[in-house]
Amino acid sequence: MSPVDPRPPVESEGEVVTVVGSSCTACGYVVAGVEPACPICGAQTTRAACGPGGSVWASTVVRIAVPDRQPPYGLAYVDLENGPRILAHTPGEAALPVGSSVLLGPLSAAGDLTVVPA
Ligand SMILES: [Zn+2]
Repeated sequence: MSPVDPRPPVESEGEVVTVVGSSCTACGYVVAGVEPACPICGAQTTRAACGPGGSVWASTVVRIAVPDRQPPYGLAYVDLENGPRILAHTPGEAALPVGSSVLLGPLSAAGDLTVVPA
């Protein structure tokens, strides 16, 4: 049995990509991924579309070999415009500036979230 993929699902409409999230019906907290109960207060959630825009919270370039990924490659934690923080791959071999605007892109060949500068 393969392990559950922890990456949140995405939806695409044309070139607009959003992350499927869950929004709490009681406290309004939004989390990336499908969660039946709020991780903060335990109330029910409804489906939310997160993104497509966001702001870089942190970014780095990975230069060591890890399974199934070819270094060097960029990563960024991105605060999506309506709440959740996601980890995404970035283009090129330079870290993105903190606070810069990005847009979600299509999933990578390995199924990773991606962002590009907006
Ligand atoms: Zn809640």
